[in-house]
Amino acid sequence: MIPSKKATTWYEQRLIHIMDLIWADVERDVLPLFSNKIPTAVRDAKLSPEKIVQLLTTAIKTLDIIINKYSSSELTNQYQRIAQGAISIASAEADKDFKEAMQNAIGIDVEPLYKNVDFTIIKNGKPVTVGLEGAIKANTDLIKTIPKTYLGPMRDMLQDGVYQAYTTEELAANILQEYDLLIKPKYKATSKAYIARRIARDQMAKVYSQTTRQRQEDSGVEYFKWQTSDDERVSGNPSGAYKKAKVSCYNISRDNQIKKGKGVYSVKDGATWDGESNLFPGSAHIQCRCVMIPLIDGVNYDSATGKYKKPKMPKGTT
Ligand SMILES: [Zn+2]
Repeated sequence: MIPSKKATTWYEQRLIHIMDLIWADVERDVLPLFSNKIPTAVRDAKLSPEKIVQLLTTAIKTLDIIINKYSSSELTNQYQRIAQGAISIASAEADKDFKEAMQNAIGIDVEPLYKNVDFTIIKNGKPVTVGLEGAIKANTDLIKTIPKTYLGPMRDMLQDGVYQAYTTEELAANILQEYDLLIKPKYKATSKAYIARRIARDQMAKVYSQTTRQRQEDSGVEYFKWQTSDDERVSGNPSGAYKKAKVSCYNISRDNQIKKGKGVYSVKDGATWDGESNLFPGSAHIQCRCVMIPLIDGVNYDSATGKYKKPKMPKGTT
C-alpha cells in the first residue's frame, strides 16, 4: 500500500495522457514513414543504404520536432497545473492521515494545535506547506523531460539503424522491416505505463513525506517512529526480496541511532544510513512505503525508556 495512493493514481493518469498525445504525433508523423511507403521497396530489396539512412534520418528529425514540441516552454503552465494538482492531493492525503494518526495517539483533534497552519493546501495558487513550491517547480521540470524519456529509446534505435545501414549492407533492407515490427508494440503501452508510474510514485511519496514532516513540526511533535510495512518487500529485510538495498528501512526501523529508542528519530533531522542523511519514511528510497508515527511523550511514547506503545484507542475515537 502506497501512502499517497490517490495522488499517485491521479498523477499517473495525467502523465499517461501527455504520452498519449505524444504518441498520436508519432503515429501521424513518424510511423507512416515505415508502414506506408517502404514495404514494397524493402521486398524488392532495391533500397540502397543511402536511401535507408535518408529515411531513418528523416524519422529521427521528426521525432526531435515532437520531443521539442512537448518540452517547450509554451506548455510550462499546463504542466505546472498538473504538478500543482497532484501535489495538493498528496499533501491533503498526508494531512488527513496525520490527523488520524494523531487522533489515534492522543485522542484529540490536533488541528487547533497547529501554529499558523491553514489546511487549505493551495491558497491563491500557492501551496501553504513549506517547501512544496520547490516540489511544484521540480515536478514541472520533470514532466518536461518525459518526451525525451519516452521517445529517447526509439530515437536511439533509429540512430543504430543509421550505423548498421552502412556497416552491414546486405542487412540494410531488413532494418526497416524490423523497425516496422518493433516500434509500435514496444512503445504503445509498456514504456508509457512504466515512466508514468515511476515518476508518480516517487514524487508523490516525497510530497507526502514532506507534508507529514511539516505537520509534525507544526504540531510541536519532535520525534517520530519509523514504521515499515513489515513484509518481505521492505528494503534491507535479510529474508526479503531486497536484502541488498542501499538504504535499509528494515535496519533503520530497528536502529537506535539517536539513543531515543528503537526506530525513533527527530522530525528535524530524520535518519542516517550508509552515508546518506536526512532520510525520512516514504522518501528514503524509490518506492519506500514506510510511514512516520508521531510520538507524544507520556501518550504513545516514554522518552525516559525510549519505548513506544501502540495506542489502544480505536480508529476515529475523539
Ligand atoms: Zn522504506
